[in-house]
Amino acid sequence: MANNEIERRVALQWRVRATSLPVIRRRCLRCTSATYYADGTFRVNANGKLLDVWLLARCVECGKTLNLTVLERVPVRVIDPSILTRFHDNDLELAAKLLEDPALPRRNGVTLDWDDAWALQKTMVEVSDAEVVDTSVHFVQRIPIRLTTLLSVGLDVSRSEVRRLIADGDLSSTQRLTGKAFGDFSFAFRRHAENQGSD
Ligand SMILES: [Zn+2]
Repeated sequence: MANNEIERRVALQWRVRATSLPVIRRRCLRCTSATYYADGTFRVNANGKLLDVWLLARCVECGKTLNLTVLERVPVRVIDPSILTRFHDNDLELAAKLLEDPALPRRNGVTLDWDDAWALQKTMVEVSDAEVVDTSVHFVQRIPIRLTTLLSVGLDVSRSEVRRLIADGDLSSTQRLTGKAFGDFSFAFRRHAENQGSD
C-alpha cells in the first residue's frame, strides 16, 4: 500500500460482562421441563471435619431442586473462612464466579445458557471517517457467546448481515468468527467508501 493510501483506522474496546446468572439446562426428573435457575442459594453440610457445598437450582416449572456440587468432602481447615461466610450468606457474586468455571457444569452434568445473561459495554468515540475499525473485545467473565450474536449486538446489524460481512472479508479476525468464544479477541471491521459519505 502506498503511503498516501494509509487507512484511517480507529481502535475501540468492547467489554462483555454478566448481568445475571445463566439458565441451567438439564431434564427435570419430575416434569417435562429442562430449565433450572439458580438464585445464589447454597447448601452447606459439615460432616465431622469435612464439608460439602452445593449450589441450589430450581426447575422453572415444578420447583424441584437440583443440587450442583461445588465442594465435595473438603477438609474445613483448607477453606478460606471468608469464602465459607459467603456460602452461608448465599452470595450471588460468588455463585456467578463459580458458574464461570466450565468444570462445575461438566461435573454436574448440566449445560449453562448465558444467552440472556450478558451485556456489552462499548467505548464511545467518533469513528465517522475511519475506514477500518479495530475492536478488542474483553470478557470480564468467562461467558461463552456465539460470536455472530456478539457482533450483531455490537455492530447493531442482523446476524445474517454479520455472516455476509464475514464472507465478504469486511469483518476479519485471527479468531474464527463463527462458533462461540469466551476469551478476549479482536477483530477488524472495514467500512466501504460508499457508506462513509466520501467520494
Ligand atoms: Zn420440573
